Amino acid sequence: MNIVLLGPPGAGKGTQGERLAARLGVPKIATGDVLRAAVKNGTPLGLEAKAAMDRGDLVPDAVIMGIMKEALAAPDAAKGAILDGVVRTTPQADGLADTLAQLGKQVDAVLLFEIDEEELVRRLSGRTTCDACQRPFFGRQPGETCSEGGVTGTLVRRKDDEPEAIRKRMQVYRDQTSPVIDWYVQHGANLVRINAIGSLDEVEARMNAALGIS
Ligand code: AMP
Repeated sequence: MNIVLLGPPGAGKGTQGERLAARLGVPKIATGDVLRAAVKNGTPLGLEAKAAMDRGDLVPDAVIMGIMKEALAAPDAAKGAILDGVVRTTPQADGLADTLAQLGKQVDAVLLFEIDEEELVRRLSGRTTCDACQRPFFGRQPGETCSEGGVTGTLVRRKDDEPEAIRKRMQVYRDQTSPVIDWYVQHGANLVRINAIGSLDEVEARMNAALGIS
């Protein structure tokens, strides 16, 4: 199953995507995680993406398509993948459809995480992220240690979780990513709206119920 997770930054796509991937035994592909790792390692990809990411802007579609194609062609994605934040523009939605079609596959479901903006700003401005495993934490401070991902990391405040970048990301979501919702509706996708307000377990239960895997 190839499942696209859509929704504004901070809606919980990463955390729920990880749970869903474990449940279905498929990898989670998150372009944001790939890009942050590239920035941390100072690779050419990271150098190209860093400035746009820090501002809260999108990186170019061509860069995303490269990451997407490579990840989907990897052997571990043969049975499907959870695509977290991978589709943020309509050209990317087109590109994903083409890439999957070439592999004899399709997008099987689109989960749209819905949440109001006030709650998002509250969540993102209190978030720290492990620089090793990328897990988000709320109520823990930058500099604290994380050992949850099997490797020891340090909690950092993502540059794009600063107030100005948060506002920018919301605007980018409204302008460039929300048209992707209509794109999927017009292309007859199996698009399901998930109420993303509530505890992690509550949202997970709604997601599983929507997919018929509860
Ligand atoms: P995320 O971790 O999903 O919030 O992504 C962090 C940042 O990475 C975004 O604000 C963008 O700058 C960049 N990014 C991640 N995925 C994409 C994408 N599909 N298209 C464009 N930029 C992306």
